This record gives sequence, C-alpha cells and structure tokens, in this order.
Amino acid sequence: MSRRTAIVTGAARGIGAAVAKRLAADGFAVAVLDLDEAACEPVVEDVRSGGADALAVGADVADEAAVEAAVTRVAQELGAPTVLVNNAGITRDNLLFKMTIGDWDAVTDVHLRGAFLMSRAVQRHMTEQRRGRIVNLSSTSALGNRGQTNYAAAKAGLQGFTKTLAIELGAFGITANAVAPGFVETDMTASAAERIGMPFEEFKASAASQIPLGRTGKPEDIAHAVSFFASEGAGFVSGQVLYVAGGPCD
Ligand code: NAP
Repeated sequence: MSRRTAIVTGAARGIGAAVAKRLAADGFAVAVLDLDEAACEPVVEDVRSGGADALAVGADVADEAAVEAAVTRVAQELGAPTVLVNNAGITRDNLLFKMTIGDWDAVTDVHLRGAFLMSRAVQRHMTEQRRGRIVNLSSTSALGNRGQTNYAAAKAGLQGFTKTLAIELGAFGITANAVAPGFVETDMTASAAERIGMPFEEFKASAASQIPLGRTGKPEDIAHAVSFFASEGAGFVSGQVLYVAGGPCD
C-alpha cells in the first residue's frame, strides 16, 4: 500500500491552507498547490514543522498542461495522490447587466474547468490503487446570490460534477463529496467587504446577525468537514453536499 498523499488546490491561504494543515495532521503527505509556488512555502514549512511531509506546487488549475505536470510531479515526489481537494477559487462579482464575458469565463474556468482537469488527472492514480477521496468546495451561493451569476452557476455546477464523479468512480472505491461553506473569514470575504466599502469587522458582524449560530465561519470549520470526507471511515458516504454555514440551508 502506498503512502497516503493528498493534493489541495488554492492552498497558499484561506480555506485551502487550513485544509492542507488539517490533512497533514490527519497523517497525509500534502501537496500545497497554488498559482504561485513561492506563496505555498509558508504552509509547507508549517506542515513540515509539525513532522509531516509537504510539497509546494505552482500551477494554474485551469491550464491542462500545468495540471498534468503538477500531478505527475506530486506522484513522483510525494507518492500517488489518493485524496484531492478542489478548493482553488476566485470571485468576479457583478450584477448580470454589468458582468463581462471575462468575469464569467474567469470564474467558471477556475472552479469548473479547474476541478475537471484536476479530477481527471488524479483519478488515474486513484483508479490504479482502487481507493480515493475527492472533495470539491461548493458554496451556499450555489442556491443563488445577488451579484454572483458566474460564481453561483459554477458552485451549483460543482455539485452536479460531484454527484456524477460519485456515480462513475464508485466502482473503484473512490468517493466524491462537496462541502458548501457559508460566510468564512478569508481574503475572499475581506475583499468583498472592501468592494462595497465596508470595514471587514462590520461586514462580518452583519453576516453573523443572519447566521443561527451567531458567528461567521473560520477556515478550520471547513477543514474539519473536508477531513471527514477524506477519512478512511467515510468510505460509504458519496455524492453528498454538506452545507457548513452555521445553520440550515435550503
Ligand atoms: P482565498 O482566500 O481567496 O484563496 C483562494 C486561493 O485559490 C488563493 O490562494 C488563490 O491564489 C488560489 N487560486 C485562485 N485561482 C487559482 C488557479 N487558477 N489555480 C490555482 N490556485 C488558484 O479563498 P477562500 O475564501 O479560502 O476560498 C476557498 C474556496 O472556498 C473557494 O473555492 C471558494 O469559492 C470557496 N468558498 C469560500 C467561502 C468564503 O466565505 N470564504 C464561502 C464559500 C465557498 P492567488 O492568491 O494567487 O489568487
């Protein structure tokens, strides 16, 4: 049996960094993949200081050649990946009448094309080993969110993608699930506050007032849910979407 290796995309910061650290604590060797390889180093150092193995990998998940090279490199340097967390993401919010084709394509490229390319490249290693866990980051925005036609479509699309992966890959012992966070405190929500000209603390307080648990999420809240889906014990849970939002979602 090969060493357990996980790849986390968009892991230089935010939710991805928390997921990488959590999976390392769970016993995985972790490939910390992001656009800028140097930006991954602090997470890699953190993981190594905790005694686990990690590798910084620079790649654009929407670039087919870069994805193929990155996955090959991870397999050679860390071991064949049997866990993939498709977390890389961006927002380009605008109301429909102001949304450009560039805004639309940039968001769907990273979330949908990126998750597709990464999953296609990694499943080869998973099917060979007849085991695997794919976890995709969706969002409560999949249920609809003003100013986010591109992002909502991509995050809803990821849910259909997840369920279909579960159906196609189940015979190989591979599960696919999605975690759909609500408001989480990261650079992504900080820049949303900046865009509307509201201090981040005020923005968080306003979001928390709408959340039954009375607080906004932390990256570690999401990492905990991802850790469950990535675990050996979750081997009979597949095709599910878990909302992690401090309260129920429709
Ligand atoms: P974040 O802090 O903005 O981090 C996203 C990371 O993804 C960044 O390091 C970014 O790199 C990287 N990335 C962007 N495009 C990439 C690409 N093409 N290839 C590789 N890496 C790329 O975001 P976050 O808040 O942690 O969000 C993580 C995931 O959770 C996203 O999928 C997001 O949609 C989802 N989510 C977040 C929230 C929330 O409230 N924060 C809620 C629901 C869902 P650069 O820094 O170089 O751009």
